[in-house]
Amino acid sequence: MKLYEKYPIHLSNSLTGAKEKFESIHPGFVGMYVCGPTVYNYVHLGNARTFLTFDIIFRYFRFLGYKVRYVRNITDVGHLVDDADEGEDKIGKKARLEQLEPMEIVKRYTEDFHTVMRQFNILPPSIEPSATGHIVEQIIITKKLIDLGLAYEVNGSVYFDVKKYNQSHHYGILSGRNIEDLMESGRDLDSQDEKREKIDFALWKKASPEHIMRWPSPWGEGFPGWHIECTVMSTKYLGETFDLHGGGMDLKFPHHECEIAQATGANGKSPVKYWIHSNMLTVNGQKMSKSLGNSFLPSELFSGNHLLLEKGYSPMTVRFFMLQSHYSSTLDFSNEALNAAEKGFKKLNNALASIKTLENTGSTTANSEVEKNLLDLIDKCYLNMSDDFNTAKTLAILFEMASQINTWINQKELLAQVSAEVFEKFKTTYISFMEDVLGLKEETTGNNDLLDGTINVLIGLRKKVRTDKNFALSDKIRDDLKAIGIQLKDGKDGEMSYEIENK
Ligand SMILES: [Zn+2]
Repeated sequence: MKLYEKYPIHLSNSLTGAKEKFESIHPGFVGMYVCGPTVYNYVHLGNARTFLTFDIIFRYFRFLGYKVRYVRNITDVGHLVDDADEGEDKIGKKARLEQLEPMEIVKRYTEDFHTVMRQFNILPPSIEPSATGHIVEQIIITKKLIDLGLAYEVNGSVYFDVKKYNQSHHYGILSGRNIEDLMESGRDLDSQDEKREKIDFALWKKASPEHIMRWPSPWGEGFPGWHIECTVMSTKYLGETFDLHGGGMDLKFPHHECEIAQATGANGKSPVKYWIHSNMLTVNGQKMSKSLGNSFLPSELFSGNHLLLEKGYSPMTVRFFMLQSHYSSTLDFSNEALNAAEKGFKKLNNALASIKTLENTGSTTANSEVEKNLLDLIDKCYLNMSDDFNTAKTLAILFEMASQINTWINQKELLAQVSAEVFEKFKTTYISFMEDVLGLKEETTGNNDLLDGTINVLIGLRKKVRTDKNFALSDKIRDDLKAIGIQLKDGKDGEMSYEIENK
């Protein structure tokens, strides 16, 4: 029996609003798609929380024995400053302001995004496609929607005809919005607007003469709309109907609603079986926003270099902190909460280091009551995670397990109450739920001085070989350290420093 059969997952499906038993379309396989970042700026913490949520889901599916194809895209074109198809392209705007090629912007912020994902120990997806890599497919589906009468071309741009779609399908099925209300409430079409209705959205936009990012199309030079890229990339790699689609709550409308309309319109079937949306971050009870000055970058959180922060917190502390709340609840950042998380994580982290040192060769006096309690805790780890990926409740069980580990460390004779088999099961469950399921890496704090001293010895050595003009050896020292995640930095006046890359 597979673990996913023993502990079937139940999840809250945003499409139906109900908690449902997860049954994959192809037994044993899971296809999941998550809207990735728009790479025009440094990734902010709210994004990090979203990607952490789906990292947990990805990890747990795999842990239970599913073969998972996880697609998370990079939006490198088409996301306009104003979500309602107006304003500049976010990447194009940044490129103009910084006087760089759009692809330079994309490269810089994609790298930043990957670095932050690594720091948080968020696993890379199976496929990470980019919107600019799928322009041809976006043109093809846009043509198809025109042929089906669900889209129309005006002056070199193509729009999705929401009213027409709604005659045979349900626009608003995900967000619960009503098309009549939407047609009433949105902003009035200004005279420049060429859409038939203000709820129509762009599949393709004509590029104005100053627009940098542009491609040829049957409708002249232009660029794709934002929503269409996700429809193309999800169905290309996962099929016309796939298991799970995720993203932040803010993407539910219009982005995900539009994705459903495009795919259903083009393929005649609903694209996604289960939708999952993760909730927002707040800071001291307020929405995190740049204009309020209370938004900080992951790097600021790690260094403590921000007005609102008393000190820095390690990536694993922050990861642990985020996992203390269910993904569907808002999560509030405050110094007190982070300090408490730091203590909490330390306890689990110490127990992780401890249990790795404990061995139990078996006992003839196993106490069935004690064993039953241990087996119960193991069971609850699975049950809590299978209950809508409840990391908060799972952590509560891991705390109980950590107390047990501490008891054994202090009173090793109590290990005799447990058979080798049960002990092994307990040990592997604790380690794998910490490391594989929750992705909480063991953090070592005790050897920093030793590490610092060792690297400084190597830096001294490298200075010496450079003075001797043995550049081959100097490069080898630098490259070998880089290979294990330590980056040497050559400063002015021959000074050298180092930085540890979080892997
Ligand atoms: Zn998307």
